[in-house]
Amino acid sequence: MSAAQDEPEGAQVVDVLAPVAVDAPYSYVAPPGLGLRPGDSVTVPLGTRETYGVVWSVAEGAAPRSNLKRVTARLDRPPLPQKLRDFIDWLARYTLTPRGMALRLATRAAEDAAPDAPRTLYRATGHSPERLTPTRRRLLAAAEGGMTFSKKALAEAAACTAGVVDAMVDEGALEAVAAPPEPVARPLDPDFAAPLLEPAQSLAAGSLIEAVRTKSYKPFLLEGVTGSGKTEVYFEAIASALTEGGQALVMMPEIALTAQFLERFAARFGERPAEWHSGVSQKKRARIWRAAATGQLRVVAGARSALFLPFNNLRLIVVDEEHEGAYKQDDGASYHARDMAVVRARFENATIVLASATPSIETRVNAETGRYGHLRLHARAGARPMPLLEPIDMRREGPPRGAWIAPRLAQAIAETISRGEQALLFLNRRGYAPLTLCRDCGHRFRCTQCDAWLVEHRFRRALVCHHCGHVERRPDACPECGATESLAACGPGVERLAEEAATLFPDARTLVLSSDFPGGAERIRRELDDIANGAFDIVIGTQLVAKGHNFPQLTLVGVVDADLGLGSGDPRAAERTFQLLNQVTGRAGRGERPGRALIQTFQPEHPVIAALLSGDAEAFYAQEIALRERAGLPPFGRLAALIVSAKDAAAAEGHARALLRAAHELPPSPRYRVATLGGLPEADEIMILGPAEAPIALIRGRFRYRLLVKAPRGADVQGFLRDLLATAPRERGGVRVQIDVDPQNF
Ligand code: ADP
Ligand code: ZN
Repeated sequence: MSAAQDEPEGAQVVDVLAPVAVDAPYSYVAPPGLGLRPGDSVTVPLGTRETYGVVWSVAEGAAPRSNLKRVTARLDRPPLPQKLRDFIDWLARYTLTPRGMALRLATRAAEDAAPDAPRTLYRATGHSPERLTPTRRRLLAAAEGGMTFSKKALAEAAACTAGVVDAMVDEGALEAVAAPPEPVARPLDPDFAAPLLEPAQSLAAGSLIEAVRTKSYKPFLLEGVTGSGKTEVYFEAIASALTEGGQALVMMPEIALTAQFLERFAARFGERPAEWHSGVSQKKRARIWRAAATGQLRVVAGARSALFLPFNNLRLIVVDEEHEGAYKQDDGASYHARDMAVVRARFENATIVLASATPSIETRVNAETGRYGHLRLHARAGARPMPLLEPIDMRREGPPRGAWIAPRLAQAIAETISRGEQALLFLNRRGYAPLTLCRDCGHRFRCTQCDAWLVEHRFRRALVCHHCGHVERRPDACPECGATESLAACGPGVERLAEEAATLFPDARTLVLSSDFPGGAERIRRELDDIANGAFDIVIGTQLVAKGHNFPQLTLVGVVDADLGLGSGDPRAAERTFQLLNQVTGRAGRGERPGRALIQTFQPEHPVIAALLSGDAEAFYAQEIALRERAGLPPFGRLAALIVSAKDAAAAEGHARALLRAAHELPPSPRYRVATLGGLPEADEIMILGPAEAPIALIRGRFRYRLLVKAPRGADVQGFLRDLLATAPRERGGVRVQIDVDPQNF
């Protein structure tokens, strides 16, 4: 142990938070001269190793205690801004995530964010070399004009090796100059191509511009039917942020696939925004992180994790498709990126826009009660009509057994492609068939690690578990009874639908858009481009095709199974199905020609299908909101889930029961009241439901039980959970407790 009381004058005591599973910063002593301030990046010893950390606070003038370890180094990183540190603290408290793990969300890129080295560039000096070969002549010609070039660019221009460039430097014909590192993004021009907005768009844009200009924390719901021009509206808010010298963040659910968005952005502002998602290289991300902190970077388009960038002057956050489930993060820290974006905006005093054609119930209620501004676009831009929606009643006009495309849909497809237009067949099921069984003995293929059927993927010749990723070969004979030729695929997936389409339309150019084929996001981006350019007649896809894409030649959408998802028993099923079907049918008729959508359903009278068909979103929302209010469900009440998991089902269930007992034995608190076990809860009491099997009762070999905490709006749910979790460790003897505040499945 170093004798820290002997530290010379000027030594600091600092609290450093490390991005690991700890809940509080640890104190260290920093040698004088480091001059540490809150937000600075350092390395410190932690246990037996050295780790990255961020100074959370500095105790000026405190006498260092003798047992403190020393800060080993200060790193050259821009400081983590106070507002971001406050946001991290808040998020950790709200989600009950250890603070170090919350910090990790913000520093994953920072740890490698060392400053870029200056670049070496080359230019001609005017001196001729001793020998002038044709290659050398080409090189000098390429370097002429006083301009500077990278070694690679020069060698390429002269079709020579890098060695020739070096030799010319040695002989004094070229000189090397140090240049600042290449900027992460080129400047954006708020006036590059400002559009002519329609009156409804202008009105909405005006409110946003005013909020950005006055730098006021103000959330808005921007609600407008598909194709109503919401993007153009929030582009104006971004322009305003740029004009004000500030930064803007656009969050998107599927950023890796939004090449179209980047192009549109470039057409509006002259350059693309910086992209932030897991597909961006670590090096690039580190540079973006720095540039966001210095303010050099002005607009980032990113996935959930972009929320934790160290912006130094954030004026605007846009959450596009705010209703999307993809905003919910469940690995490690469990948080809803849309909700956290609203909180981040509050800390930054920034304007926040939640954009959607079908907002979440939570956001709709916030807009209706006036907590959020409500901006609306009721019609499609450019006087384009909404697609015409028609049901196909599968009870009366369904296809023959073993087929899934009804005759009337097939007819519509034939007409569409004969006019040179595109048709989209939507089925939210990956693979070939959702279930495979043996016709002789009834054996069904299920995952041994999860509570799920194995899905046949014929393209990969495999059976796949969609929960854990387990893959096995599809056998030729039944593993149970040994019968051959007895295995049958039940129900359709997109691959099987493609088979049927190929039979019905052998000459059509058909594409299955799926994340299951090799090539990753790059392949899908290319295919989306190809669709937009008219390279296919029939596109078959899962929800991947539904997300915000613009396919100008697409005029027909066929929803193959609109009822899928409605029978799941999840109270959010209605909302999700309504959102998804609106999104999908909204792909039709976004170009010059009007669109049409045919909806295959066994229950055309179901409220969700009826609301979709009539285009009456208001009726749907009114009904769903009333239902939630009656049941005390979010946003009229609060929920939190405790998932208790273990390899042994009895151990998981036992611990869940122990937690339930502990909850009722907590000493009384001034901040919340727990309802008596088995009694009828009072209006201000927290109720604990369960334990019951979690919605997916077995994942990756772990059995999962769930306690659902249901509380009135004003109750201190976090305080209750903290007290409850203090009664037992969150991980012990193979039993794990995960907390999900505001769960999406309930
Ligand atoms: P949303 O985001 O609401 O689905 P978009 O912003 O993608 O809608 O706009 C839909 C289509 O309408 C796009 O092709 C867009 O270029 C076009 N558009 C938007 N605003 C206008 C406008 N003011 N005048 C003409 N076309 C517009
Ligand atoms: Zn599995």
